[in-house]
Parts: sequence; structure tokens; C-alpha cells
Amino acid sequence: MGLVLAYYAVLRSVWRAQPALRRCLTRCRHCGIFFLTHPRNAGRKDLRCPFGCRAAHRRRQSDQRSAAYYRDEVGQEKKRALNAKRRQSSARSPPPPLPLLEPSPPWPPRIVPYIRMVTSLLEGRPVSLAEVLAMLRRALRQHRMARTRRRDQTLGWLHAQPP
Ligand SMILES: [Zn+2]
Repeated sequence: MGLVLAYYAVLRSVWRAQPALRRCLTRCRHCGIFFLTHPRNAGRKDLRCPFGCRAAHRRRQSDQRSAAYYRDEVGQEKKRALNAKRRQSSARSPPPPLPLLEPSPPWPPRIVPYIRMVTSLLEGRPVSLAEVLAMLRRALRQHRMARTRRRDQTLGWLHAQPP
């Protein structure tokens, strides 16, 4: 809940500071949350938010497509062939090596492109993916430092004036 409030506070300040972006503010037709969309989609009423609804809708659509595809005879044939091929290749080849990844970031990966688009709109220039990730890491570090500072202050205060 705190996160949603913080998010709306940011949207409100964008609304005040960047009147040109007001037409980009839109509402998710699924969950109703407000978000900024790309200017090319401004004014559309059929958009879904980048916080999960869009991805869920895409998944549903592709499930429906593949279900329809596999219903017909040709699909069944292809599916059998594909499964046979999969069985063969998994029997033969060794398992793929585990990719070397950073420990999973504390933010949902799908919001990164959204943050990138919004930052680009706000700054009026293309912002790179690396810049967005650096920004997120910096924000997280500051958030953690502020939390530690608050805790230390409270501890110091309790130490000075025991209850
Ligand atoms: Zn939504």
C-alpha cells in the first residue's frame, strides 16, 4: 500500500511539473491503476498497465492461440512430432549450463522498460537500460541507508533516554 501511495505521489508531481505529459496519463482497463503511456498511445482507452495486467493479457492471448492451433488435426500431428523431437534431444544433449546472473533484483523485471520509458519522457531524451538499472540501484541503496539511519537514531535515543 505504501508503494502505491508513493507511486501516485510521483505521478502527481509529474502531472504538475510536466503539463505536456498529461495526455499520456491513462488508466488500466483491467485493474484501474493510473499510469503514463507512450505519447503514441495517448488517448487510448483500451490499455492495460505494465504492472502485470498487460503481461497477463498477453499470456492469456497466446494460450488461446496455441489452444486453437493444437485443436485441429494438423496441429495434433505437429505436436506429436515436436514432442518426439524434444524427447530425442533431451536424451542426447547434456543440460545447458546455468547462466551467470546477478542475484535477482528486488524490483519486478517487467517494470524496468516502463520506468525507462517514463524517465525518457520526463527527461526528454532517450535513457538507456543501463542508466535505468543504475538509477534503481542508487534509489534502493539510498532507501536502505535512510532506513538504517532511522534505526540507529532510534537506538541512540533509546540508549540516551531508557524508557
Ligand atoms: Zn492493471
